[in-house]
Amino acid sequence: MVADPTAYLRRRMFFRRCPAGFAVGIGLVGPVLVNFGSKAQQERYLPKIRSGDESWCQGFSEPGSGSDLASLKTKAVCKGDVFVVNGQKTWTTAAHWADWMFTLVRTDPDAKAQEGISFLLIDMTSPGITVRPIPTIDGEKMVNEVFLEEVEVPAENLVGEMNKGWNYAKFLLANERTGIAGVGQSKAELRKLKRIARSERKNGRPLIEDPQFQARLAQLEINLMGLEIANMRLLVEEQKTGTAGAISSILKIRGTEVQQEISALTMDALGPYATPWIDASLEADWNGEPVGPDYAAPVTPQYYFRRKASIYGGSNEIQKNILSKAILKL
Ligand SMILES: Cc1cc2nc3c(=O)[nH]c(=O)nc-3n(C[C@H](O)[C@H](O)[C@H](O)COP(=O)(O)OP(=O)(O)OC[C@H]3O[C@@H](n4cnc5c(N)ncnc54)[C@H](O)[C@@H]3O)c2cc1C
Repeated sequence: MVADPTAYLRRRMFFRRCPAGFAVGIGLVGPVLVNFGSKAQQERYLPKIRSGDESWCQGFSEPGSGSDLASLKTKAVCKGDVFVVNGQKTWTTAAHWADWMFTLVRTDPDAKAQEGISFLLIDMTSPGITVRPIPTIDGEKMVNEVFLEEVEVPAENLVGEMNKGWNYAKFLLANERTGIAGVGQSKAELRKLKRIARSERKNGRPLIEDPQFQARLAQLEINLMGLEIANMRLLVEEQKTGTAGAISSILKIRGTEVQQEISALTMDALGPYATPWIDASLEADWNGEPVGPDYAAPVTPQYYFRRKASIYGGSNEIQKNILSKAILKL
C-alpha cells in the first residue's frame, strides 16, 4: 500500500494540472435540494455546497444492497421531532472527510420495497456514527463502511416527502451516471497519453509513430468522440423532456469503458515503467515511491482506479438491464 496516500493524491492532482474537487455536493445532492428540498434546506445547504465549505458523501449502498438498492435495510423510525437511524452503509466514498451524508433509509418496512424509502441528510458528527476505511487496490483509502447506531437526525432533515425517497434517488442517479462519463477528464487523459507516447520510444523512434500504437490511439479517439456526441444528445433530451432518462446509462457504460481503455493503453505506452510499481506494491518495505520519469508516477494507480469505474454509480451490467428495459418497454 502507498505509505502516504495524501502525497499520492497531491501528485495525481498535479499531473492533471488542476485541483481535484468532489462532485458529490454540487453534482448529486445539490440538484436534489434545488428540485425537491424545502426553502429552509436550500438556504441552509446550497451556499456551502457551492463554496465547498461543507463536503458530502453518498450513503446509498449497503452490504447486500448494491445493485438491488431498493432492498436496503437501514431503518429510520420517527420519534417526535427526530428520526432514530440504525443500520450500515458501505462503499461510502470520502465518508471520512465528509461533513454530511445524504442517505436512503427505510421508513416503512411494510410497504413495497421502493415505496418505503426516505431521503435523509445526516450530520457526520452525530453521536452513533462510526466510519471504517476499506483499502483498495490502487493504494487509496477513499471508500468506507459507515455504521449508524441509534443516530438521532432532526425531522427537518427529511428531503421531500416521507417514503418518496426512491423518486429523488432515481433523479440523483441519472445525474451521477452522466457525471461519471467524464468526457472532459478523458480528453485530458488522452492528451497526456499522447505526450507520453511522444517521449517513449519503440525501435529507436517515438512510440507515437508506431503504426500499431497509432491504430489503437485512433480507435480510442473515435470512441471518445462518439461519447461526446452522446453526451450532447443527453443535454438536448434533458432540455426537451426535463430528464436525462436512459441515455445516462449509455453514457455511464461507454464513459467508463473509454476511461479503462485509455488507462490500459497508457500502461502499455509506459512499458517497463508500469511494472515495478505493481511489483513494488507487493513489497512490505516499499516506501510508495514510483519509478521512472515523472509522468509514469500516477499511471499504474490510475489504471487500478479505473477498474472500479464500471462498478460504482451502478454497475455496467445493471445499466445494460436498464437500457434493455427502456428499449423493450418492459
Ligand atoms: C470504488 C467504489 C466507490 C463507491 N462509492 C459509493 C458511494 O459513495 N456511495 C454508495 O452508496 N455506493 C458506492 N459504491 C457502491 C456501488 O454503487 C456498488 O458497488 C454497485 O452498485 C454494485 O453493488 P454491489 O457492490 O453490492 O455488487 P452486487 O450488486 O453484489 O453485484 C455483483 C456483481 O453482480 C452483477 N449483478 C448484480 N445484479 C445483476 C443483475 N440483475 N443482472 C446482471 N448482473 C448483475 C453486478 O453487475 C456485479 O458485477 C461504490 C463502489 C465502489 C466500487
